[in-house]
Amino acid sequence: MVIFDQSQNSSDRFLQWRISHPDSFVLNIRGNSLMLHRASCGHFDFKEKVTFAPKRAFLNKDDLDDWVRQQNNKTYKVCSDCKP
Ligand SMILES: [Zn+2]
Repeated sequence: MVIFDQSQNSSDRFLQWRISHPDSFVLNIRGNSLMLHRASCGHFDFKEKVTFAPKRAFLNKDDLDDWVRQQNNKTYKVCSDCKP
């Protein structure tokens, strides 16, 4: 798992990650709500400077599901555009 938090260079690191791992799974975290995307999803194309939401990236979907289960049984929504 790779953590992208709200530290200063996370946005740049994430852009690099998308290029090198376009098929990986990314959970976008906004407060209590989690949304699953493919790293290549167009939702991650930043058109202008927006607040960077924390993310967790996984190469393997099983690892992602394990991680989510450890987060107080949170669930996640699945992006209807990239349908990971
Ligand atoms: Zn998506």
